[in-house]
Amino acid sequence: MLEVKGFTKQYGTKTAAKNISFSVGAGEIVGFIGHNGAGKTTTLKCVAGINPISNGEILIDGTSIKQDAVACKRVTAFVPDTPSLYPYLTGSQYLNLIADIYQVDSKLRKERMEKMAEDFEISHAMGSLIGTYSHGMQQKIALMAAFIHEPKLLILDEPFVGLDPAAFITLKSMMTDLCQKGGAVLFSSHVLDVVEKLCQKLVIIRKGEIVATGNTADIIGNVSLESVFMEMNAHD
Ligand code: ATP
Repeated sequence: MLEVKGFTKQYGTKTAAKNISFSVGAGEIVGFIGHNGAGKTTTLKCVAGINPISNGEILIDGTSIKQDAVACKRVTAFVPDTPSLYPYLTGSQYLNLIADIYQVDSKLRKERMEKMAEDFEISHAMGSLIGTYSHGMQQKIALMAAFIHEPKLLILDEPFVGLDPAAFITLKSMMTDLCQKGGAVLFSSHVLDVVEKLCQKLVIIRKGEIVATGNTADIIGNVSLESVFMEMNAHD
C-alpha cells in the first residue's frame, strides 16, 4: 500500500530525512519511532503529500505521489500531531464536510459517524461547535474524520497524545479493524509499549536515517522495544 524508496527531505541546507526506504502492506500496522527531531513528522507529512519531497520516490497503492498527488490523497488519511479543525463548525458539520470531499455515501457516513461518536463517547457533543471542545475531543473529531472515508492508507502522527484511556483503547481497535478490512496504518509514537503490542512491523529512525526496519518480533528478540530503543540511542 505504501512504498517509500530512497526518500530524502531537505529544509534549505538541513537534511531532515536521508535515503529512507520502507514499505507498509495492506493489513499491516507499522510503528514509526525515533527520538525528538529524528524526522518522523517530516517523513509522515511527505507521505501524506503535504510537504514536497527533495529526492526519492513515494508510491501509494502503486501511484507515485510526485506524478499524481490527488490520486494518492484520495485513498489516504492523515491526522497530524496537532490537528487544526474549523472552530465555527459543529463536530457533525465537520465530519459531513470531510465525507462530502471524499464522496462517502450519506447512509454509510451516518452509520460510521454514529458508531464512532458512540465508541468515542462524544455523541452528546456532535451538535456543538468544535471551538467549544476540549483538546481530547478535538483529537477524537480529527480521528473520526480520517476514519469516515475508510482510507486504504491511514497515517497518524502521535495519535494517542491527549486521549483518555477509553479513547486510547477505542482507537487501537479502530486501527485493527481498518487493517482487517485491508487498510494499512503507519503511525508515529513515543509510547513504546503500545507500539510493541500493536505493530507487526517497525521503522526506527535516528537523525534522519533508518536504523532498523522489519518485523517487530525480529527487531525486539527477547528483550523489550524500550531496551532496543535505548540501546540504539546510546551511541552518539
Ligand atoms: P518529534 O518527536 O519531536 O515530533 P520528529 O521526529 O517528528 O520529532 P521532525 O519534526 O520531522 O522530527 O524534525 C526533523 C528535523 O527537521 C528537526 O531537526 C527539525 O528541526 C527540522 N525541521 C522540521 N521542520 C522544519 C522546517 N519546516 N524547516 C526547517 N527545519 C525543519
